[in-house]
Amino acid sequence: MKKRILWTGVLISAIALIVFSFISAELYYKRSLRYTEDDLKMYMERFDSSLTVNGLTEEYARALSDELFGARITFLNENGDLICDTVDEDAESRADRPEVREAMREGEGFDARQSSTLRIDYSYYCRQFQGGAYYVRIAIPTQSLMDVYLSSFPVVFTFLLLDLAGCVLVTYLFTSFILKPVEVLVMDAARGKRIKADCPELETLANLMNRMNDDAKLQMERIAEEKELVVKAQQSKNDFIANITHEMNTPLTSIKGFAELLAAGALTGEAAQRAAQTVLHQSERLTNLVASIINYNEIDSDDLPTYEVNASKVALELLETLAPAIQERHITLYTHIDEDVLLESRQERVTEIFGNLIRNAIRYNRDGGTLTVALTRTEFSVEDTGIGIAKENLERIFDRFFTVDKSHSGKGGGFGLGLSVVRKLCRKAGWWISVESEVGKGSKFTVTFTR
Ligand code: ADP
Repeated sequence: MKKRILWTGVLISAIALIVFSFISAELYYKRSLRYTEDDLKMYMERFDSSLTVNGLTEEYARALSDELFGARITFLNENGDLICDTVDEDAESRADRPEVREAMREGEGFDARQSSTLRIDYSYYCRQFQGGAYYVRIAIPTQSLMDVYLSSFPVVFTFLLLDLAGCVLVTYLFTSFILKPVEVLVMDAARGKRIKADCPELETLANLMNRMNDDAKLQMERIAEEKELVVKAQQSKNDFIANITHEMNTPLTSIKGFAELLAAGALTGEAAQRAAQTVLHQSERLTNLVASIINYNEIDSDDLPTYEVNASKVALELLETLAPAIQERHITLYTHIDEDVLLESRQERVTEIFGNLIRNAIRYNRDGGTLTVALTRTEFSVEDTGIGIAKENLERIFDRFFTVDKSHSGKGGGFGLGLSVVRKLCRKAGWWISVESEVGKGSKFTVTFTR
């Protein structure tokens, strides 16, 4: 960048300098010609104008030349033919010379050129005398325009060198000053800072850099988010496998233990009967667990078409099925179920959601408690007066395999998959599930059908 500025400066000033020196040389040349013309006119005053043609002798010409510091004197007759010339003896007519022609026409004439006979640059001044009876021409050697150019060359060259030195100095001193805003801009951009242009010329660049920086940040954020999602997915997969293994281990140990005893014939009678029952019960639990996992995973891939489900009917049928369990726990049931509440879903999904919530409300209720099931067009709620859920667990109960009381998991209680299935189904339908609970007092789960 600095080099560019330096060379541009050198080029511009060199061109300017050369053009300027040519113009000034020409002006100087023209002016010096004018002075020469004035000098020659003054010289002419020394000529004795009273002379007749006969008086124009070579002697007189030489005497006049001596008097005029060796100026070249030419006498021409009325036709412009040579009478005598102090320098050039060539007898050819001078009538065609510009200064002579002009003198014949106007009375006097001036010209500066290279002498065609002597190859020397002369300034000529010619005057008519005695009404055109003869002409006197005085000439002195002068510099040609080329001479002026050549003589100015050393000066121009010196100035060119000075110009180069000046440009180097100015570039060195000022480029840092001029380029400072750009440098600041680049530094800010590199540090990922928001750039503010100090001068309007850099505004577009600053905006562009800001946009690029924003894009880059956004990309980085997106990549970080994606990375986090991948890590989370991996973690969730690991947890899932660990949980399944754990959940399967309890019934399998039990089955294996009792099966071994039975096989060895160590148990007889009622004990053998109980052992067989336990084996049966635990294998049922295993089957349920596998079914629950399959069910959970199938929700995502389940793209079956939805239709209008009579949710009121589903709720009433479920309560009828669960009536024995409710009675067994001496729970009082209250229902506020609106008639013919229609939901855009599938029968099995609504059954799954309602069933899970009601079964939990029975399972985690206290004996002799109450259960309130309500259904309107906007929401479904299940309220119990059971053990309740501690605040810190409220969010986690919807996670897979989460159970508050680990000791019941794998025994009498579920596997902690029910509520995660409910939440997944609700999300799929665009519904919202929430829970309010107080430990020791009870819980209320509400599904809001907002679509
Ligand atoms: P589970 O099969 O263990 O019931 P869920 O996913 O249905 O699994 O429930 C997760 C956990 O949330 C349960 O283990 C229980 O601790 C708690 N929970 C669910 N419903 C209730 C409720 N109505 N009252 C108190 N705790 C509940």
